[in-house]
Amino acid sequence: MAHKTDIQIAREASKLKIQEIGAVLGIPPDDLLPYGHDKAKVSQSFIDGVQDRANGKLILVTAINPTPAGEGKTTTTVGLGDGLNRIGKNACICIREASLGPNFGMKGGAAGGGYAQIVPMEEMNLHFTGDFHAVTSAHSLLSALIDNHIYWGNELDIDVRRVVWRRVVDMNDRALRQINVSLGGVANGFPREGGFDITVASEVMAILCLSNDLNDLQKRLGDMIVAYRRDRTPVFARDLKADGAMTVLLKDAMQPNLVQTLENNPAFVHGGPFANIAHGCNSVIATKTALKLADYVVTEAGFGADLGAEKFMNIKCRKAGLAPSVVVCVATVRAMKMNGGVAKADLGTESVEAVEKGCSNLGRHIENLKSFGVPVVVAINHFVTDTDAEVQAIKDFVASMGAEAILSRHWELGSEGSEALATRVAEIADADTANFAPIYPDDMPLAEKIQTICKKIYRADEAVMNQKILNQLKDWEDQGYGNLPVCMAKTQYSFSTDPTQRGAPTGHTVPVREVRLSAGAGFVVAVCGEIMTMPGLPRRPSAETIILNGDGQIEGLF
Ligand code: ADP
Ligand code: MG
Repeated sequence: MAHKTDIQIAREASKLKIQEIGAVLGIPPDDLLPYGHDKAKVSQSFIDGVQDRANGKLILVTAINPTPAGEGKTTTTVGLGDGLNRIGKNACICIREASLGPNFGMKGGAAGGGYAQIVPMEEMNLHFTGDFHAVTSAHSLLSALIDNHIYWGNELDIDVRRVVWRRVVDMNDRALRQINVSLGGVANGFPREGGFDITVASEVMAILCLSNDLNDLQKRLGDMIVAYRRDRTPVFARDLKADGAMTVLLKDAMQPNLVQTLENNPAFVHGGPFANIAHGCNSVIATKTALKLADYVVTEAGFGADLGAEKFMNIKCRKAGLAPSVVVCVATVRAMKMNGGVAKADLGTESVEAVEKGCSNLGRHIENLKSFGVPVVVAINHFVTDTDAEVQAIKDFVASMGAEAILSRHWELGSEGSEALATRVAEIADADTANFAPIYPDDMPLAEKIQTICKKIYRADEAVMNQKILNQLKDWEDQGYGNLPVCMAKTQYSFSTDPTQRGAPTGHTVPVREVRLSAGAGFVVAVCGEIMTMPGLPRRPSAETIILNGDGQIEGLF
């Protein structure tokens, strides 16, 4: 049977007006700020008014290390949310917004897949409600203020060689990675080197996603370090008086966006920080609002559990005071086979042996997730090519780890296919057995926090940091940044820093190349490998085949 593409399925959706979706969550029409008929932001006054309600249960969806076979975290997040609603629970989904630029390279959509999708999917992957454009504008304002300040005499004594604030644009444009600015003579300022990152890599994005409200947002924006003086003292965004105007530009972007699934269940899609140099989760304000409005909130963390779930727990939950009731770890037969050494081209052939071998990767993630004190369920995201014996091999393995794996067919069947998963997840959440705690305390020295993550999560022998890095961390501790959490920037494809090491490698070390301070977002980034903050386009970008058809529909996007 030929399967419909994601975009075909999405186009056939019978969407409800966004006011009807709001009503499901008890949001009155006047508290919805509609963007067209199928998207709305939720007013701050409504959010303020629900603060003394009890919280629903938080369910995190994460996965094994990604392989080119595809795992389907977003698809499973949506499928589980729909499944919970199907069994009569009041559930809401929270996921990230998509970056526009990568769509024109080769990326697939970010709204789920098959019969587990969020709509309107084209808009969600393009301009949506303009939040990312607002982040770009706020970021660009600060960039302009810095060079303007230097132009008008540089009262703050900014060392033009030490401006750390770069520029951003939501486009894959490698030509902008390193540039010279202020060329062209006296009227254009003082020439210096600069460069662009993609918008989702902006610290403004991370701040938007970690702030509790607009006051918190403004304070964090002011706390950002934009440059250093010759004596190495930091210059803050606040020193340039940028925080007020940036907050004005971000006022609407701070409000969560409400949309719906193919099955007309509510979903907040809000914020989208990078998952390497930032924490990779949707906004705190969306998650917290959803917890006030629904009994179950299903959310997703980027990359595999070693990065995404670790940051969700150690950064987002710690800082926002959230605690997950249960974690769903997505695995697929195909990804297990790739972890077991099968090449992508050979995934169509049954191999129970390869599945069994690849399960070592899943096993380690299960152990790690349990170390946060949260019960773990494995969701086997079913591909129609999976054989029963292969599925059984995963179930047997997971049972041997003292956990359980449930086959889920939401991609193929929608909520009908995820009922079993939803039922079990709800039971576990309701049993209240979670005893969540981050794996390191706030007051642990920064270098030790890095060691803890490398040893406990990546199972490395150690993190290797040279004296310069250790001194830098010590300096930040002296300056009062010592109790920040650490944000690891490492390959998503392996527990180690070598992307080709699948499975469950041991005996490796984690070289920390560089550390960065995101003083506004509130974490220290440990860079362990090549980290690309401005992607490029492939030789044949998908932009070449994206068109509007005669009916005004987008073709070629997914
Ligand atoms: P992630 O969130 O882990 O990056 P997604 O849920 O976005 O993954 O899925 C990535 C792609 O894989 C999507 O195009 C989706 O349609 C496809 N996909 C996901 N699950 C399945 C499945 N069970 N069968 C076939 N394709 C799937
Ligand atoms: Mg995803």
